[in-house]
Amino acid sequence: GSQARLNAITAVNNFRATEKPLNFMEEKPTDLFGCNVFSDKVMKERLPKNVYKTLKRTMDKGEQMDPSIAETVANAMKDWAVSKGATHYTHVFYPLTGMTAEKHDGFLTPDGKGGAIAEFSGKLLIQGEPDASSFPSGGLRSTFEARGYTAWDVTNPAYIRENPNGTTLCIPTAFVSWTGEALDKKTPLLRSQQALNTQAQRVLKFFGKASDERVQSYAGPEQEYFLVDRNFVLNRPDLQLAGRTLFGAPSAKGQEMEDHYFGAIPPRVLSFMMEVERELYKLGVPVKTRHNEVAPGQFEIAPIYENSNLATDHNQMVMTTLKEVALRYGMVCLLHEKPFAGINGSGKHVNYSIGNASLGSLFDPGDTPHENMQFLVFCAAAIRAVHKYGPLLRATVASASNDHRLGANEAPPAIMSVYLGEQLADIFEQLKKGCAKSCKVKDELRVGVDTLPPLPMDAGDRNRTSPFAFTGNRFEFRAVGSNMSIAGPQVALNSMMAESLDYIATELDKCVKADLSNLNECVSKLLQDIVKKHEAVIFNGDGYSEAWHKEAVEKRGLANMRTTPEALPVLTSKEVVDLFTKYNVFSKRELESRQSIYLEQYVKTIMTEAQLVIKMSRTMIFPGAVRYQSQLAETCANLRAIGKDCVMVSLDDLTDKLRGMQKAANELEALLGHSSDDVLEEAKYMCNTVLPKMLEVRSFADALEGVVADDLWNLPSYQEMLFIK
Ligand code: ADP
Ligand code: MG
Repeated sequence: GSQARLNAITAVNNFRATEKPLNFMEEKPTDLFGCNVFSDKVMKERLPKNVYKTLKRTMDKGEQMDPSIAETVANAMKDWAVSKGATHYTHVFYPLTGMTAEKHDGFLTPDGKGGAIAEFSGKLLIQGEPDASSFPSGGLRSTFEARGYTAWDVTNPAYIRENPNGTTLCIPTAFVSWTGEALDKKTPLLRSQQALNTQAQRVLKFFGKASDERVQSYAGPEQEYFLVDRNFVLNRPDLQLAGRTLFGAPSAKGQEMEDHYFGAIPPRVLSFMMEVERELYKLGVPVKTRHNEVAPGQFEIAPIYENSNLATDHNQMVMTTLKEVALRYGMVCLLHEKPFAGINGSGKHVNYSIGNASLGSLFDPGDTPHENMQFLVFCAAAIRAVHKYGPLLRATVASASNDHRLGANEAPPAIMSVYLGEQLADIFEQLKKGCAKSCKVKDELRVGVDTLPPLPMDAGDRNRTSPFAFTGNRFEFRAVGSNMSIAGPQVALNSMMAESLDYIATELDKCVKADLSNLNECVSKLLQDIVKKHEAVIFNGDGYSEAWHKEAVEKRGLANMRTTPEALPVLTSKEVVDLFTKYNVFSKRELESRQSIYLEQYVKTIMTEAQLVIKMSRTMIFPGAVRYQSQLAETCANLRAIGKDCVMVSLDDLTDKLRGMQKAANELEALLGHSSDDVLEEAKYMCNTVLPKMLEVRSFADALEGVVADDLWNLPSYQEMLFIK
């Protein structure tokens, strides 16, 4: 019983990091950075010049891989990997579970003479066949064709993953079915980048900026997480299996003091962070910032932004590394969106922009009037996109765990709106009135699109309540969950942007009619038009307020989908299917399969949690409380035996709570007997019927925690888990 808790606390107290201390003086971060990556530098050294050039072109232009060089590249890669101690290679892929998947194969092949040699062919590099029948495919892959295959993603470099006992060569891959349908998170992201480039180039043409340097999307994901001592987790089946606490009374001190945020980082945590960074440096992940977050025990790590595809793979590595390194320091890293009730959850702000090396960010206002006009066009495209496809954006961040965050006043609300900041909002307001030539905004700024002065954007103006906020040269999408792949939201953003840019280019084509001297007027008119149609999505106020929720839905017609079962059906709505099929990002079948997989995941998650609630309430909470009950009863009997009165209010109260918990747990169990063939129905049932009953069990259990003797309580408390570091 409570002995387990005491052991945990003792272990926390006695914890000493066993690792050899890091020494960044001897091991310079600049030397470490990318040392385990088959980088441009390594390729240049190890590949024949012509092969290097061909490969480089493939990577930069996103062209089809020339199979004739595969053999040479594979060999060079293997030799490099073996020189770094690799014995195995793996095709790393990203199935729809949101996790990272890998299957390892050895390089060793018998040489026919009783020995063995290390071998790796071009074929093995380019294509793998994991036994993937256990990954979700949503009906895309019937079991007789169970072998989806993995295909090398040439645009991201291979790398080596270290383990104290050896290393593995990791090859980033896309995962598709034999019929070419996407079974993963990467394939649609690559497709959406293509669509984005095509349409962005069409718009750039009007500004004389079109080129064959691809326009890409960029992402800088700020990753939040919790750290909890592992001893506590081992005593909490809910944390182990569900990643969140299903029980737990609030700690006397929560986060209301806000003294944790940006406070000094505890030494054990700092050691952990440094080792995480060291590991990530080696993998070429440009991690940059670390700090405490709002909640006690909560922290953040953020890299410098990169191309979406690379940033997405890197974010997966960040999540994996956080979890692995935490264990070395006796802690568990919780990536769940809401590990503790009543305490801020974890999100992942995805900073999103589009552009390329020569153009910079197309969401950057720039210094010249010409650049400003271009900026306003791309910005308007984003506004239009979020207005048109807000529900889609909402659906990309829908999960059982993220539901605990969105809409609880700590994360952005589930209503998708755009924050522009006062200044930019003012400019769009003027554009709406039609500043064909020029008009005045706030003394200084003239906003005629042909005479735009530099727009000094104030990036310091922050509104934390907006799900999609302009922050100077990018938008920050704040509704993404800490545990999610960032691929899905970016696939949606790229496709939505492509559609808006397509619309803009088409409209400008019609208006300009090959005579660019019309351009200013055409742009003005188009911007005016877009603002008029889509201004409903622009909101600079407090996203948490009741008034906004009312106004958004009733006056502005914005959707407020609070739960996953409300949001996921959007994936197969007509608008969304039209959008994705038009730009070849998803087929209808792919969308249907995704929707059913995500719904299934939702159902399974809640099912697991519900079963845990029943089990824990019966086997961990009930026994402790009953022991206390009998202690109280015994005391009462003793008192009476010596002729004293015994009015045991606390005994009656305890007994009531125990009965309440037992009854609710039995009812919850009965509810789980329900089943339906329709996965959406099932998801709604989980959401509307099962979840509330789980909360009812919890409310009795948490009340018991407040009265049962501390030494009889089995579960580590919120106070212990959050504050012992
Ligand atoms: P804050 O917490 O103030 O929002 P952080 O420094 O934690 O800011 O994170 C900001 C993230 O935005 C970083 O990952 C950064 O690299 C990224 N970022 C900066 N400029 C761009 C851009 N143009 N496009 C995409 N991401 C960007
Ligand atoms: Mg931040």
